[in-house]
Amino acid sequence: MDTIQEKHILSGKHIIVAGAGIGGLTFCIALQRFLENHNREINPPPNIVIYEREESMDVIGRQGYSLSIRSDPLSGGVQILQKLDLLNEILAESNPGTHFTVFKNDFTPLIEFRSPPVEDLSQLTLCIAQLEDGKVLVTLSDGHQEQCDLLVAADGSNSKVRRELLPQHELRFACAVSIVARTRPLNKLPQPLDTTWGSVLGGNGHFLFIAPTDQTSALWSVSYLSDTPCKPKPAGTMSDAEIEQVLADAEQRLRPFCEPIPTLFKETLHSSVAVTNAKDMMPFRNHGSAIFIGNAQHAMSPFSGNGASMAVIDGYQLAEQLILAKNLSAAIQAYDDLSVPRSTTAIKMSHRNIAMGHSQGIWKHLWVLTLKLIAWYFGFNPKPVENRT
Ligand SMILES: Cc1cc2nc3c(=O)[nH]c(=O)nc-3n(C[C@H](O)[C@H](O)[C@H](O)COP(=O)(O)OP(=O)(O)OC[C@H]3O[C@@H](n4cnc5c(N)ncnc54)[C@H](O)[C@@H]3O)c2cc1C
Repeated sequence: MDTIQEKHILSGKHIIVAGAGIGGLTFCIALQRFLENHNREINPPPNIVIYEREESMDVIGRQGYSLSIRSDPLSGGVQILQKLDLLNEILAESNPGTHFTVFKNDFTPLIEFRSPPVEDLSQLTLCIAQLEDGKVLVTLSDGHQEQCDLLVAADGSNSKVRRELLPQHELRFACAVSIVARTRPLNKLPQPLDTTWGSVLGGNGHFLFIAPTDQTSALWSVSYLSDTPCKPKPAGTMSDAEIEQVLADAEQRLRPFCEPIPTLFKETLHSSVAVTNAKDMMPFRNHGSAIFIGNAQHAMSPFSGNGASMAVIDGYQLAEQLILAKNLSAAIQAYDDLSVPRSTTAIKMSHRNIAMGHSQGIWKHLWVLTLKLIAWYFGFNPKPVENRT
């Protein structure tokens, strides 16, 4: 007797991915892998199109920052890259680091190597409408309209898709302002940046972060608490006088820190100076056929140090659940059951990082003691960067 196999939920479906960032690309790569290795052929296979807003990597604010992929139990981005056979390739494109991987600032080779499921990578912005039959109508900025069965919104923390479909989920100021810049190319990265990177508690309300951005340049960031967000000043948008003003402010704030900070500050590339507000957004559960992943679902501030790993895991797990589940709502529920608690924990941890990093007086000493105990417990022995206080 012939058995009629149930049609797979992805069979013949048209999937649009909004955003070729780390989450959107991981989703595409993982889905392709799952489709190749699935125990029965999904016929006809789904058709996947990814739309990316930017046409190059040289967009303002895109260059010269580091991205760490973590392997701790909450984050697990490294393990996912390993499952996707991408880890060695990414390590080869990365800077040295004692504990985490720090990417070069040029992601282009990785994107070119790994785009098999991507039918089209076009530079368009999107306008979205959810239709009554469950499909999603996507209007691109050139007026072209396209219907899809599934829209994966991976368009980052300022998600246009989210603003159109779920405007109630807004970014929230996480009460910290950062002055960020990177150095011009140096002959040699100053110690300890040649081997590691990290954060320093100023103990006077200032939190410092330094990291290499490639083999010859590094970034520095000094942050402070604020009740209200400041006017953001992206890199490349300020006049020379404004940059001087921001740098004078930064110099005061960086005063307590000793080498390599004075060297990094002296070598600052003026066009890279920026002032940013830390913003985040607690996750929400997905419904319908527009599914949000990565920062679009749970925006993380840089203080989490975890947003990239979260986006990698989200992309992988959504692809996995779409392959395994019997229907779309079961897939979405299974995905949310994993991603919502994970990202909630990561965002709460980032709030603790903000409180700890900017602590002063007795609180600073208590946090340092706590960190030392944690380091001792895990057998971790970091080389401290001293400050002058
Ligand atoms: C300065 C800084 C430092 C950071 N450092 C770290 C770190 O060390 N470790 C870490 O884990 N995380 C870090 N993060 C956070 C990390 O970058 C994000 O959490 C992560 O990139 C989120 O991935 P995503 O794929 O969700 O979104 P994104 O990486 O933001 O990708 C979204 C993509 O969608 C595209 N897009 C946006 N709108 C549209 C549209 N309308 N149509 C089509 N495409 C669109 C964007 O161009 C982009 O390519 C840092 C962030 C910043 C700003």
